[in-house]
Order: sequence, then structure tokens, then C-alpha cells
Amino acid sequence: MKTKIYLIIVLLSIPIVSMANIPIDSTKVTDKKVFTVVLDAGHGGKDSGKYVAQTAEKDIALKVVKLLGKQLESHTEIKVVYTRTTDKFLELYQRADIANNSKADLFVSVHCNAAAATAAKGNETWVLGIHRNADNLEVVQRENSVILLEENYKEKYVGFDPNDPSSFATNLMIQEEYLDNSIEMGTNVQSRFQTQLSRKNRGVKQAGFAVLRLSYMPSVLIETGFLTNEEERTFLRSTSGQKKVANSIYVAVLDYQKNREINLFEVEQVVTSETSTAAAAGNNIVYKVQISASSNKLEAQSYNFKSLPEISREKEGGIYRYFTGNFSSLKEVSELKEKAIAKGYTSAFIVIYEKGERRRL
Ligand SMILES: [Zn+2]
Repeated sequence: MKTKIYLIIVLLSIPIVSMANIPIDSTKVTDKKVFTVVLDAGHGGKDSGKYVAQTAEKDIALKVVKLLGKQLESHTEIKVVYTRTTDKFLELYQRADIANNSKADLFVSVHCNAAAATAAKGNETWVLGIHRNADNLEVVQRENSVILLEENYKEKYVGFDPNDPSSFATNLMIQEEYLDNSIEMGTNVQSRFQTQLSRKNRGVKQAGFAVLRLSYMPSVLIETGFLTNEEERTFLRSTSGQKKVANSIYVAVLDYQKNREINLFEVEQVVTSETSTAAAAGNNIVYKVQISASSNKLEAQSYNFKSLPEISREKEGGIYRYFTGNFSSLKEVSELKEKAIAKGYTSAFIVIYEKGERRRL
């Protein structure tokens, strides 16, 4: 008996002794998921972007991106990938390729604005979207016009007319998947510019930028200010101005990244409660139509959504998703989707709730 006890003690001691000989790697203790962000300095090389009073958009974009990257690189859990770190020309699809190959979590493209009216000021952040008006068409044409500088652009961007963003439909649906997150990041950027720099907030806007359409991840294009506005141009040219702009984007990225960690937790909570509800209801499948995703909280009422029936709202991170309908039949939900599209919700899609989880159909 004594021998047995002794043996057990010896056996139990072995792992402890052997573990004591292994140096503890502190990086493994905090094994956080690496968050990869691609920083894209707009334009470059033969493409100066906007050029006003000896100030080239490509130079300011690169300086801001380098300052921003330096700050982000101080975080061990953040990996920074640059599309360019020198004054070189890159085609839009090459920028997207770099982002896609790095399997990034976020794509941030930095630009400067310009307008015919020198009084125009403030900053705006663009996400890929289908909502267009004459106003954003002008910006889109300017940022997409680089394609005309590329060799054989007609073969590379099949069916794409840089002067007509709606012609570039490829991959639109893929990027739509990331729209909520892109809007969230855009909202972060806008609020940081407003609170830290007291800049005029021109809002988060949606348009058909080629560089955003080609990247398969949440993506934003930031217009950091107007080179045609003397005060903003002076600010953007100065090192202190560039540092402030970089810092605002830096904090916005951190806000976004932290929210991803929180979201993982929240999603688990939601799934748990929904699972029990679904189980109680006999595990029924429910179909709804997602009609909109926005950082704005609206009452889930038909009158806010062109009289569509049974509006429901779900919050995820800083984004509200809005749905119409609640069906068990695919036929009914398909009809409602067509109705929503006809009413102007052209990116509406069907979602299915199954075993407490929502996914796109
Ligand atoms: Zn630009």
C-alpha cells in the first residue's frame, strides 16, 4: 500500500518537474487573435491624385499612412500590411490583391478631397454601397479615374466604365457581406475626426469605389480633408496635422478591433438564448428579409421602412440590422424580398434562423 502511494506521488511529480524545466513563453499565455489591417496610401507614382498649390494628395496620404502604421505596430496583436511605403504607382486591383492575400480583417484607404468650391471642408468616410447620387458620383469618378492610367484597363476591369460606377457589379455581393462592419469602422473614423480634430463631419457615405469592391473584407476609404480649402490644406501639409489625422484613424481602428473581441462574447450570449427559444418552439426555421444595416437606431415600425410588414431590429456592435417579415416558408419570404427590392431596398437579402443562428441564405 505504501509503495502504491509512493508511486502515485512520484507519477504526479513528473509532469511538475518536467514543466519546471520548460521556459515559460509569455507570448503564449496571452494568445490573442492577430488583427491584420491593410493601410493603403491612395494614388502614388505617376498618379498624384489631387494636386493643389504644390500639394500632392499621394504625398499626404503616404505620410499619414506611415504615421498611422507606426502607432498600430506598437500593438503586438495587430499586424500592419502596407500597399505601398514609397512613391510608386499601384493599380487598384494590386492594392486589393495585397489586402486579399494577407487575409486582412480591415482595409483602410487614405485620401484627400478636392472641390470646385474652396469653402468646402471637413472629412468623410466612404464604404462600398449602391446608394449613389450626383454628389458622390463626382468623388467616385475622381478616385476611380486612376484605372484610366493603367495599361489594358478594359481587359482587367471587364465591363467597368470608370465614369459609371454602377457598371462595375462584380463582387458587389461579396463586399455587401461586410457592409455593416465597414459602416461601423466609418462611423468610428468620423466620430474621432469630429471629437479629436473638431472637423466638420460630412458623414459615412456609400458609393462604388473600385478599390473597395475588389477587397474581400470590411473596407473604408477616408477623405481626410480638402486640399482646395486653404486652411485644411495647410493643416494636412503640416507634420503636426498629419500626426493628428493619423492618431484619429489609429484610435478608430482600435475602437473597431476592440469591438470585434466584445462581439465574439455577445454573439455567444445571443446564440445561447436563441437556442433555447428555438428548442422550445420545436426548432422551427424562420426566414426574414434583411433590408438595411446602419449605425442609426430607428424604431422598428413599418412607417420607417416604406410600409413593409413585421419590422424587426437586431444590434451587433455599433450596427443595427433591420428585417422585414417572419416566415416559415421560403416562397413567402422570397415574395417579400422582391417587394422590398421594388420599394427601393435593392440590396435586400433573405436570412435564415436555424438552431438559434442567423445566416444569409
Ligand atoms: Zn484620392
